[in-house]
Amino acid sequence: MATTPFHVSLNNLSHVFTDGRIPLSAIEDVSLRVPTGQFLSIIGPSGCGKSTLLRIVGGLLRPSHGEALVSDETPAAAQKHREIGFVFQDPALLPWRNVLSNVRLPLEIGGNGHSHERPTAEGLLELMGLTDFRGYYPHQLSGGMQQRATLARALAIDPSLLLMDEPFGALDEITRSAMRYELLRIWGSTDRRKTVLFVTHSIAEALVLSDRVIVLSGRPGRIVADLDVELERPRTQDIERSPAFLDYSDYLRGLLKDAA
Ligand code: ADP
Ligand code: MG
Repeated sequence: MATTPFHVSLNNLSHVFTDGRIPLSAIEDVSLRVPTGQFLSIIGPSGCGKSTLLRIVGGLLRPSHGEALVSDETPAAAQKHREIGFVFQDPALLPWRNVLSNVRLPLEIGGNGHSHERPTAEGLLELMGLTDFRGYYPHQLSGGMQQRATLARALAIDPSLLLMDEPFGALDEITRSAMRYELLRIWGSTDRRKTVLFVTHSIAEALVLSDRVIVLSGRPGRIVADLDVELERPRTQDIERSPAFLDYSDYLRGLLKDAA
């Protein structure tokens, strides 16, 4: 486990893609320390390297320069030890498996690294309000339900770190805004509070959810702001009308305009 108070440490990360016609610098000199249990959002213009950054932290991509550490080990090792859960924009549920069996999938694949007991698939479905839909197949679910099932699947390995890349980006606005409060409820209800790195386009989503928001510049993405969100928890929909919330929103909107 971590010997530093930081769950995620990024040290001077840069990444250049060299598989295209010309080398493309996606992120540049990103350094960041994320304490255990922090909910951190990453916002920035489209194409500024947010997904690239998340893929590096998740061990899916090796950076050209610099180093990423998760619980003091490489992301690849942390992933092998099942410390990292992913939720992407596309639900990526297996269409031939029903909800329960999709959520069970990572448990069937096995692996170890945890000494404590994992949540059960049934318990996770209960938490997500999907118990009555356990026998349904992905195509029989709404987009919001599919994303809740995907989140349940990510939580099945009880990861200490959750990486979410625009998880609600494909949902309609009403479902999307409901999902942020759902996620808060779920995040607050797990035994070990998970560290979350959450990529979003939505300023409101970032503010409602986060302890802290990082703003990236346009490509190559660099950190241009690092903001602590000091809004009281638990947060409910009312918060989006509070003066403090609106101040934070204006501030971030200004930064994003400059960053683009
Ligand atoms: P964001 O998630 O912020 O929209 P990405 O991290 O997906 O941005 O992409 C950052 C930049 O890197 C973009 O210009 C994108 O075209 C480029 N890029 C992403 N993945 C690859 C890849 N596998 N090969 C080449 N270029 C890529
Ligand atoms: Mg992206």
